[in-house]
Amino acid sequence: MSGIHHVTAIAGNALKNFDFYTQVLGLRFVKKTVNFDDPGTYHFYYGDEAGSPGTILTFFPWEGAAPGRGGTGQAQQTAFRVPARALGYWATRFLEKGIAHGALEKRFGESVLPFTDPDGMSLALVGVPGGENESGWSNGEIPTEHTIRGIHGVTLLLDSAAATAAILTNVFAFTEAAREGSVIRFKTKGPANGGVVDIYEAKGFLPARQGAGSVHHIAFRAGDDADQAAMAQKLVKEHGLLPTGQKDRNYFRSVYFREPGGVLFEIATDIPGFAVDEPVASLGEALKLPSFLEGHRKEIEAVLPPLGKVA
Ligand code: ZN
Repeated sequence: MSGIHHVTAIAGNALKNFDFYTQVLGLRFVKKTVNFDDPGTYHFYYGDEAGSPGTILTFFPWEGAAPGRGGTGQAQQTAFRVPARALGYWATRFLEKGIAHGALEKRFGESVLPFTDPDGMSLALVGVPGGENESGWSNGEIPTEHTIRGIHGVTLLLDSAAATAAILTNVFAFTEAAREGSVIRFKTKGPANGGVVDIYEAKGFLPARQGAGSVHHIAFRAGDDADQAAMAQKLVKEHGLLPTGQKDRNYFRSVYFREPGGVLFEIATDIPGFAVDEPVASLGEALKLPSFLEGHRKEIEAVLPPLGKVA
């Protein structure tokens, strides 16, 4: 298993975030839980039907969070995969719904439609030839032939690419696939979802400041605990880094480290997945809490804003 497991970002208002990702983008709301380190706030997970690794975008909605500022040491853009033939549908949808978006552009031969979410998070749809043959989940409104398939990849804005590139290739099984201008593309041989990391090497930019609309961290896949431990050991022995101990996130187990370019990286296990505490058919409907917070459910529910109906 290789590639991106999930991307986690910071949002402002929880309801706006929920509506945008479920209603406008039509992603499935696969888990409603809280930030385990800050249980008075939500942690939202969006993805495909089952929340498969490589399809997951997650948010910490922090009401009133100051907007982030783009810059080096951060993910500059997060891109989703859609069938190439669906881009016209999405451009029209963004116009109709008043979603801020840019003009179609070409990157590495692929058509890309950039847009932003309500917090100004930089996103894009990448039109993938043959994408209609990849499985997609529909919220019942967007025809399945047009729906988002999963995460295409992320673009990191870095002052210097080399040390980060070494981790991508040596620890996470990416290989350098192409260069275009100042951007180096890395790809995995693994599944299409989550298979791309672009490094945009740019000197002289200010460092990014995290806030609403910023990516908080990027998680890469490990099949299981043993896989994860081997990766963590490689980081220590071959890259001189000091990853954290393993943290249980209920739906996967995580190890974190700050990569040399300044971006927070995570290694997340594919197991156990989102069906560990509720059936796939009703994912996202109930507030799920880890056992150590279950005793505080009443207080937690009292401070979380209610959400609309889940698709
Ligand atoms: Zn994470």
